Amino acid sequence: VAADDAAPATRPAGYAFARGALDRAAELRADAARLAELAVAPGSRLLPVRADGRILVDTGRGQLAAQPATNVDADVTFLGLQGADAWFARSVPADTPTPDPTLRWLDLRGAAATLPADEAATAAYARALLHWQSRKRWCGVCGAPTRLGEAGHRAQCTDAACGAQYFPRTDPAIIVVVDDGAGRILLGRQPSWPEKRYSTLAGFVEPGETLEDAVRREVAEESGVRVGPVEYLASQPWPFPASLMLGFHGRAVGGELVVGSELADARWFDGAALPELIASGELTLPPALSISFHLVDHWFQRRYGRHLQPGPVFATR
Ligand SMILES: [Zn+2]
Repeated sequence: VAADDAAPATRPAGYAFARGALDRAAELRADAARLAELAVAPGSRLLPVRADGRILVDTGRGQLAAQPATNVDADVTFLGLQGADAWFARSVPADTPTPDPTLRWLDLRGAAATLPADEAATAAYARALLHWQSRKRWCGVCGAPTRLGEAGHRAQCTDAACGAQYFPRTDPAIIVVVDDGAGRILLGRQPSWPEKRYSTLAGFVEPGETLEDAVRREVAEESGVRVGPVEYLASQPWPFPASLMLGFHGRAVGGELVVGSELADARWFDGAALPELIASGELTLPPALSISFHLVDHWFQRRYGRHLQPGPVFATR
């Protein structure tokens, strides 16, 4: 994952899936004639996405193994334009073999570690959209089958009397670096994580809740700590399978530290001690692909003028 030199120094940056290069060209989704032209244009590409979420990657070249878009038909999903070239995506069965020994089916974390940032973002976009399609085959109102429209960006109930429409959904989740204003940072660890791995607290936004309230509720539930001022910092698409991580800084204003039922541990860490704890193996931070590492690193960098060491990638879901 490359560092993001172009981003303002005051924002976390450099995490995966966040620097897409495609123009989504939403106005073309209903333009069947134009899409048919693009489908046979020489620069157009078709990205296969396996039903298990894996993406075809040319690991030698470190590129998406998108194919010439020769078989584009009415069922294909239009992702957008890169310059004049169209990108399409299609779901293929989970047991689809590797078509060529130089190619590999990688999960998104593996793809993020292999691909340039813009291609990792394209992969995440395609995977999230096709996952939504796979979960929206029947109407939630009347139970009839749905049909995809808008080049894969809408599902429509096939029962004319019902006619319900569905659009791709994204589930907002907050993720927050909490400090106490005196140089300490609050980190927690989930029971499934490797020992000594700690990260920022996170959780889904609930219906009828503001993002700021979600930050305060999640931190209170998971740690007992009361958060006052909340500052939005940055966001990351997190297609495992459909989240959008909204990154915040929160300032603790009270509350006794009590580890909530979702966590194995939550602790205050002295910021100045973080490099030493990481170097000695007493603390492992999240990997560089996640915004969680960059929230911690951004907090640290603002105070100490240098960066922290990210942890290794491992699969949780
Ligand atoms: Zn229906």
